[in-house]
Amino acid sequence: MKTVLVIGGGITGLSAMFELHKWKKANHSDVRLVLAEASSELGGKIRTVKDSVFVMEAGADSIVARKANTMSFIEDLNLESDVVYNASGRSFIYTDGELKPIPADAVFGIPTSVESLAKSTLVSAEGKVEALKDFYTKNESFTKNDSIGEFLEHFLGKELVEKQIAPVLSGVYSGKLSDLTVASTLPYVLDYKEEYGSIIRGFEANKEKFQGGGEKKFLSFKNGLGKLIDAYEEKLEDVEILKNTKVSKIERSDKCYQFTFSNMETIEADYVVLSIPHSEAKKLFTNHEVIKEFSQLKTSSLISVYVGFDVPDSILPTDGTGFITAGTSELSCNACTWTSRKWEHTSETRNLLVRLFYKSSHPAYAALKDMNEEEILQVALGDIKKSLGIAADPIAMEITKWSESMPNYLISHPQTVTELESKLAVSFPGILLAGCSYYGVGIPDCIENGAAVAEKIIKYL
Ligand code: FAD
Repeated sequence: MKTVLVIGGGITGLSAMFELHKWKKANHSDVRLVLAEASSELGGKIRTVKDSVFVMEAGADSIVARKANTMSFIEDLNLESDVVYNASGRSFIYTDGELKPIPADAVFGIPTSVESLAKSTLVSAEGKVEALKDFYTKNESFTKNDSIGEFLEHFLGKELVEKQIAPVLSGVYSGKLSDLTVASTLPYVLDYKEEYGSIIRGFEANKEKFQGGGEKKFLSFKNGLGKLIDAYEEKLEDVEILKNTKVSKIERSDKCYQFTFSNMETIEADYVVLSIPHSEAKKLFTNHEVIKEFSQLKTSSLISVYVGFDVPDSILPTDGTGFITAGTSELSCNACTWTSRKWEHTSETRNLLVRLFYKSSHPAYAALKDMNEEEILQVALGDIKKSLGIAADPIAMEITKWSESMPNYLISHPQTVTELESKLAVSFPGILLAGCSYYGVGIPDCIENGAAVAEKIIKYL
C-alpha cells in the first residue's frame, strides 16, 4: 500500500488532497492519504474571525471572480448558495492631508483619456501639462526589461506617476516601481506606446479590456472565506488529517521517505506534496544545493489591523470603498479598506468596520513590527482619525502580523523555481513543491496548483 503525505493544510494542500481523495474514491484505491498541519486549524493564510458584530479575516479576504477555475471549485464544494460579491465604489488616495478620488476610468492610476487626466484632483496643472508629453515623445530606448517607474515617468512625468500611478501600481505589485520591470508588471504599456504613439491613447483604445467583468469582481462567502476551508475539510472524510503536527525532518530510506514530526512520531511516505511556505520547507533539508535555491526566494511582511466601531457605516464618504496612501503621506498605513462598505456580510448591523494594512515597504513598519497589539491599535486609531475624522472608541479589533510571509516574485523567481524543482527531482524524487511561495499567490492559483501537483502524483499510483 502506498502512502501520500501532504505537508501543510493551507488552501494549496487542501486542494491537492481533495484531488487525491476524489481519485482514491473513484478508483477504490487502498492508497493511504495523510495531511499534516502544524497549527491547530487548517487554512493557513485563510482564517475567518467572528465576534458578535463583525466578520473579519486574518489573511485573505476575497477571491478574484473572473479567474477561469473559480466557479468550478465553488461548485465542487457545493458553495454556490454561500457566495457573496463585493460592493463596487470609488477608491481614494490619501495625500496632502485629504482623501482624493482616483479617477474612475483610470487603469492602475494611469489616465485612459485626456479628459480623465484633466479631471484628476490628484495632480497639479503643471503635472497635467507635463503628462501631455506622452503624446509627442517617442520611445527611442526603453525595452520591457527597463523599470516600469522610469518608463512611465519618462512619458507621463514625475508628478502623475508619484501622486496617482505609483500608489496604485506599487500596491498591486508589492514593490517600488524603480525595482519592477515593464515585463513583470504591465508589458502591454510598451506595446501601446509603439502602436498608438501614446500610453494614454493605448489605454483609451483598449478600455473595454480593463472594464470587462462588470461589478462583481471579487467574491467571498456569507460567513467569510473560512467557509472554503471548512468545505474542503468536510469533503476529506477518507483522509487522516493530523493537526498540531509539524513536520521537522525528512530522511530518505531505500524505497520511501521517513518524516519526523515535532512530537518525535514518524511516518513513512512514498509521495509527498510540500505545500508549506518555502522558508519552512528549507528547514527540512540538509542538502546544500537545495537550501541554496530556497534561499533565493524572497518575502516581505504585512500587519493587518481591523477596527470596528459602534458608529453607522454611513459616516464614510458616499460610494467609497477605501483608500491607499501616497508615498509622501503622513499616515503609517499603506491602505485602508472600508470593509463594512465593501462587504455587506461583514457587518449585518451596518456598523463601521475598517481594515488597515501596514507593509514592510513603509518607513513606519520598522517600529510597528515590534509593537504589541495595544500599541498597534493606537497607531491605527491615529490613522483613522487623520484620514476619516473618526475618533470613536473601538468595539472590536483583530490584528495579525504576517512576518516574512508575503512571497515577492522577483525577476529571477521563475528561474529559481525551475532550478529548485530539478534539484529536488534528482535528490528527492517523489517530493513535489506546491503553493504560494512558488506558483502564484492568489487563491485560485493555489487551488489550481494543488490540483496539478496531485495529478502528477496520481500518475505514479
Ligand atoms: P499557506 O496558507 O501559508 O499554508 C501553509 C500551511 O502549512 C499553513 O497552514 C502552515 O501552518 C503549515 N505549515 C508550515 N510549516 C509546516 C510544517 N513544517 N509542517 C506542517 N505544516 C506546516 N489571496 C487572494 O486570492 N485574495 C486575497 O484577498 C488575499 N489577501 C491576502 C491577505 C493577506 C494578509 C495574506 C497573508 C495573503 C493574502 N492572499 C490573498 C494570498 C493567499 O491567502 C495565499 O497565497 C494562500 O492562502 C496561500 O496558501 P498556501 O496553502 O499556499 O500556503
